[in-house]
Amino acid sequence: MERRRFLLTLAAGLAVAATGRGAVTGTRAGEGDPVAPPAPPRPDPVEAAVEVPAGPLPPPTGVVTALPGEGDGLALTIDDGTSSEVVAAFAALAVDTGIRLTFFPNGCYRSWEENAATLRPLVESGQVALGNHTWSHPDLTTLDDAGVAEEITRNRDFLEATFGVRTPFLRPPFGAHDGRTDRIAADLGHPTIAMWNGTLGDSRVLTGAELVGYAREWFTAQAIVVGHANHRSVTTVYGELLDLLRERRLRTVTLADVWAVPRPPFSGVAATALVRR
Ligand SMILES: [Zn+2]
Repeated sequence: MERRRFLLTLAAGLAVAATGRGAVTGTRAGEGDPVAPPAPPRPDPVEAAVEVPAGPLPPPTGVVTALPGEGDGLALTIDDGTSSEVVAAFAALAVDTGIRLTFFPNGCYRSWEENAATLRPLVESGQVALGNHTWSHPDLTTLDDAGVAEEITRNRDFLEATFGVRTPFLRPPFGAHDGRTDRIAADLGHPTIAMWNGTLGDSRVLTGAELVGYAREWFTAQAIVVGHANHRSVTTVYGELLDLLRERRLRTVTLADVWAVPRPPFSGVAATALVRR
């Protein structure tokens, strides 16, 4: 309960912060600097926390490269999953430590189905969020419209069938995207192109020490950091990565903690059910 209150408070903080300086770029044109309305007095912080109505911000249409506003969040996002052993290690890390992670799976790798039993409860609780990284990791800008749609749709449906969720996020493989691929992604339910502004550097094989070096460079407040569930090195330095988060007083968040599609009971169906009850 306390944790939930905390998250709601956090989300409210992000929502307020995001009206000022957002990390969103792309298709939103003509946004000025809105003047924040004066905050009403809130004498009791606990009460204030539970009064916050909605949680996260709606997912923006366009490209995000960092978390919006000021804060102490860090979104660790883990892509691909060519190694079932490494996906299993990340899942175990999440179970053991409570770290919040966003995975961008390619459904063509068996690692996701092989670890679905461990991951599903984490997804249901919200500790783990998912994004679409295409079915088989092509450079989308080299495919025709039908090819782009096929790669996105197949993985979208795989994520829904395997984990029971839809995601607003698409991360294009290699970060390769353009207006055409972004439009197709949005039409297929992924308005938010989730890029990054920090990296573990591990799309190639690194030593553990090299990987920690990247983390030292890129673990900063409100960063979206990309890593990969492909090579074993990262699994040997979890302790160092957690130490670094602690030293820098960074708190892991999922992308869905920050940007999320409204869930029941705010949807029409659930609202009707509530009225009937
Ligand atoms: Zn990738």
